Amino acid sequence: MEFAKMTVTEALRGMRAGAFTSVELTQGVLQAAQAAQNTIHAYVTLDAEGALAQAAEADRMRAAGQELPLLGVPIAVKDNMNVKGQPCTASSHILEGYVAPYDATVIAQLRAAGAVFLGRTNMDEFALGSTTQTSYFGPTENPVARGCIPGGSSGGSAAAVGGDLALCALGTDTGGSIRQPASHCGLVGVKPTYGRVSRYGIVACASSLDQVGPMTKTVEDAALLMNVISGQDAMDATSLDEPVPDYTQAWIESEGSEKPLAGITLGIPKEYFGEGLDPEVHTRIEEAKMRAERLGATLRPVSLPNTAYGIPTYYICMTAEISANLARFDGVRYGLRVPCDDVIEQYKRTRAEGFGAEVKRRILLGTFVLSSGFYDAYYNRAQKVRTLIRRDFEAAFAQCDLLLAPVTPEPAWPLGVYQNDPIRNYLSDVLTVGVNLAGCCALSLPAGKTAAGKPVGVQLIGPNFGEMMLFRVAKALELPR
Ligand code: GLN
Repeated sequence: MEFAKMTVTEALRGMRAGAFTSVELTQGVLQAAQAAQNTIHAYVTLDAEGALAQAAEADRMRAAGQELPLLGVPIAVKDNMNVKGQPCTASSHILEGYVAPYDATVIAQLRAAGAVFLGRTNMDEFALGSTTQTSYFGPTENPVARGCIPGGSSGGSAAAVGGDLALCALGTDTGGSIRQPASHCGLVGVKPTYGRVSRYGIVACASSLDQVGPMTKTVEDAALLMNVISGQDAMDATSLDEPVPDYTQAWIESEGSEKPLAGITLGIPKEYFGEGLDPEVHTRIEEAKMRAERLGATLRPVSLPNTAYGIPTYYICMTAEISANLARFDGVRYGLRVPCDDVIEQYKRTRAEGFGAEVKRRILLGTFVLSSGFYDAYYNRAQKVRTLIRRDFEAAFAQCDLLLAPVTPEPAWPLGVYQNDPIRNYLSDVLTVGVNLAGCCALSLPAGKTAAGKPVGVQLIGPNFGEMMLFRVAKALELPR
């Protein structure tokens, strides 16, 4: 049996029917994952021993008649989430040697649901990037568009799932880091509404933008994972007290109908189809629009007039927050220490050696925009524009249920290209950062491939706590695998 090719739903069905055990499943996935470490390099670390012990425990529970939503399902976790007893480095030299002393809330939720933790996936250092090339441990290759970037920053998670080296994974999305790699690797990726999922125990990137979300092979699998990781958490004051529906029920009523999207209006934001949109990406999105119409949806042109300010606003807010969040890595409390008699010198040397170039660039930018004299000109102004961007989305959602747009302006590019061109990388985030600035939810769904075989994703964007609608529409638009 090709265990690693399975979806979560298929694996659960098989285990519940007694066709195979979690140990067999986990072993199969670990084998596939290990075999691709020298090529795809999706994982920073694999924990075969731990995973097999958890799988054996899951099998014991099932044999004793217990059932749980993800009992025995192996999952890959981005290397910026604390899993008790496992290393957690955020793919940074400065966190080398750090072992998580506790479980992040999402990990505790998955553990309670019976999931098995395979290992930790590669990422851009501290989630700063769109290519997974800023990882201290070396890049990850796109398993579908070989020789190309898998996207980032959750590129390891995307490559693991897209390359059938995991059934499903968790990523984090601060400015597109779940949706963009999902799009480049042909997956479903969800950026939940800000406050939907707890951030406790996640290595903070930009705290007002970060959300954890699932990366899966199907819409149904994403809904299953969202059921487990959603909800308010006393340990995260920004998580919201909003009931968690059963997301797998989102499409139940409309499923089987010839027009499952009847009565739904999809807004087409004209600014997301502007200059720089690759023609092949554009074609795939046009096809998705036509599918939506055939399935009964009404398409409606809408405008998000401040889209052009998304990149500068995002890169001011996010660098300001990252410069503050990364101040805690000082060689005293976590990971790497470059010892020195003078403590100030020790801070400096540890940070100089421990952080990579992109991290330093962002700390410098963030410190600059927060500095006295420039605070009003940059940080304060960006906060105001952020409000305007949020209002754009609110106004659009007064006219439609969801927005439909591309995820990225272009398909995955070859590894190494643009590596020394940060601005070029930043600009590629133009279609994803608005969602994080506004706080609303979005989903990346496979929409086919380019002639060269590179996956292209279509983005569905929903209002706050609009995840049910996202799943309903995504399920109807999902192409056969
Ligand atoms: N690519 C964006 C950046 O470099 C998004 C990162 C993220 O979502 N973590 O900041």
